[in-house]
Amino acid sequence: MASDPETAKECREEGEILKRVASNCIENTGGLFVAVEGDDEKYAADFPDLCSRCGIPVRELDPKEARELEPTLSPKVIAAYEVEDASIDPFMLSIANIDQALSLGCFLLCHTRVVGFECRDRRIRTVHLKNTKTGEDIIVEAEQVVNATGAWAGEVAALAGISIDLLYSKGSLLITDNRIATRVVNRLRPSSDGDILVPGGTVSLLGTTSIRIDSLDDIRPTIEEMDNIIDQCAAATPVLKKTRYIRAYSGVRPLVASKSAGDDRSVSRSFSLLDHVRDGLENFVTITGGKLSTYRYMAEKTADLVCTRMGVSKPCVTRTEPLPSSETSRWTEPGLAPKEWIKKGEPEDLILCECEMVPRSVVDGIVTSIREQGGRADLKTIGLRSRIGKGTCQGAFCGVRITSYMYDEGELHAGEGLSDLRRFLNERWKGIRPILWDGSLIQEELQEAMHCGLFGLEL
Ligand SMILES: Cc1cc2nc3c(=O)[nH]c(=O)nc-3n(C[C@H](O)[C@H](O)[C@H](O)COP(=O)(O)OP(=O)(O)OC[C@H]3O[C@@H](n4cnc5c(N)ncnc54)[C@H](O)[C@@H]3O)c2cc1C
Repeated sequence: MASDPETAKECREEGEILKRVASNCIENTGGLFVAVEGDDEKYAADFPDLCSRCGIPVRELDPKEARELEPTLSPKVIAAYEVEDASIDPFMLSIANIDQALSLGCFLLCHTRVVGFECRDRRIRTVHLKNTKTGEDIIVEAEQVVNATGAWAGEVAALAGISIDLLYSKGSLLITDNRIATRVVNRLRPSSDGDILVPGGTVSLLGTTSIRIDSLDDIRPTIEEMDNIIDQCAAATPVLKKTRYIRAYSGVRPLVASKSAGDDRSVSRSFSLLDHVRDGLENFVTITGGKLSTYRYMAEKTADLVCTRMGVSKPCVTRTEPLPSSETSRWTEPGLAPKEWIKKGEPEDLILCECEMVPRSVVDGIVTSIREQGGRADLKTIGLRSRIGKGTCQGAFCGVRITSYMYDEGELHAGEGLSDLRRFLNERWKGIRPILWDGSLIQEELQEAMHCGLFGLEL
C-alpha cells in the first residue's frame, strides 16, 4: 500500500463493486494487518494515516482483541488493525464470466493458441489459431483484437511485430489442508515475502514471493520459497510451522516497466492498457498486469476503448449489473457437493471424490456441460469446475475412480483415460514436489505405490 497507493485505492473500489455484482464468488472475510515483535513499530504506527490517504477505513485493535478474533495469531503481536477485505473464488468467477459471455453470443475456443497475425495497411486482418489438442488450424477475420494473455502478452504482441517491455515476477503460494484463520491476515511491514494468509473456503493460502525471472517456460515453486514463506508467515501465525500442506503453486506477475527498474515490488501492480495505434496497428490493444480484484475494471477500460473505435456509445454495465451465477460454476464452492448430496438422500449416487465428497451426479452434470460447450471432459477440466483433486489426496483416489467411471460411461476409449490420468497427476505433482514432508510425503508414497505400482504410470 505504501509503495503503490493508486493500486490499493483501485482494489478497494473494485472490491466494493465485486461484492455487489458477483457476491456469490466472493467471501466477505474482512482482514487484519498485524505487526509482531521485531517489526518496525513506526511503520505500524503510520498505518492508519496511510489507509486514510488511500480512502481505506481502518480500526485499531488491541493485540488481545485481535487474538480473540483470530485465535491462531501469535502472542507476539504488538499492533493490529482491522480493515475491509475479501477472498475470491477464482474458479467460480472465471466460469461465471465465461458462461455469461457464452449466453451473450460469444464463442469459446478451449485449448486454442494464437500462433500468428496477418497484418496489412495498419490493421490486423486475420488471427491464426491452433488447437493444441487436435492440431486443427483456425483463421479468424477480426475487426478488433484484444490481447489479454497476462504474462504472455509480450510474446503474443511480438507475433504482430510489436515489442512490449515486460518484467516477469514469479510468486509462489502454499495451500494448507484446513482453514487457519477466518480473515485475511496481512503482516504489517513494508511489502516483502511471506506476508499474507488468505482464507479460501475450507483451506488457507499463504505467500508470496517475488523473484525476477527471464522466461515463462518452466514456472514452478521451489523448496527454498516454501521454507521462506512458512518461516515468514509463521511469525504472525505460529501454527503454520506444524500445519499440513497439500500443495504449492506459482504464478507470474507481468509488470510493465523499464528493464532498469530495481526491486520488482516497487513496480506498480496497477494494470496497463496499451493502445497499439502508436505502434502502427489501429485495431489491436493489449491489457495486462493488474490484479484479479481489478479484472472487471480492466475489462471495462478495454471495452470502452474498443467501443470508441467501433463507434459504439452504449456505456459499460458491469459496474451495476449482477454477474449471473451459473449452474456449472456452483460446484467449485467448497462444501456444497456434500451438502446437496445429503439433502438429496440418494445413497446410490456414489461419491467419486471422498476428500471433497463429490458424487457421480455432479461429475455427470459437468461432463454434459463441457460437451454442450463443444469440449471433451477430462480430469483437469472436471477439476477446474469442481473440487475434484483439490483435497488432501490430490487426485490419488478420485483420479482413478473418475477415470474408471468415465470408461464405464463410454466417455473414454482405449488409452485415453490413462493419458488423462498421467497428465492430471503430473500437474498435481508439480505442486506437491516442494512440500514433501510429514503428511504430504506419506500421502505421496501411497500415491506412488498406487499409480506407479498398480498402473505403471511412471513419467
Ligand atoms: C503470486 C501471485 C499473487 C497474486 N496475488 C493476487 C492477490 O492477492 N489479489 C489479486 O487480486 N491478484 C493477485 N494476483 C494477480 C492475479 O493473479 C492476476 O492479475 C490475474 O490472474 C491475471 O489475469 P489475466 O487474465 O490478465 O492473465 P492470466 O490469468 O495469466 O491469463 C492469461 C491467459 O492467456 C492465455 N494465453 C497465453 N498465451 C496465449 C496464446 N498465444 N494464445 C491464446 N491464449 C494464450 C493463457 O493460457 C492464460 O489462460 C497475483 C498474481 C501472482 C502471480
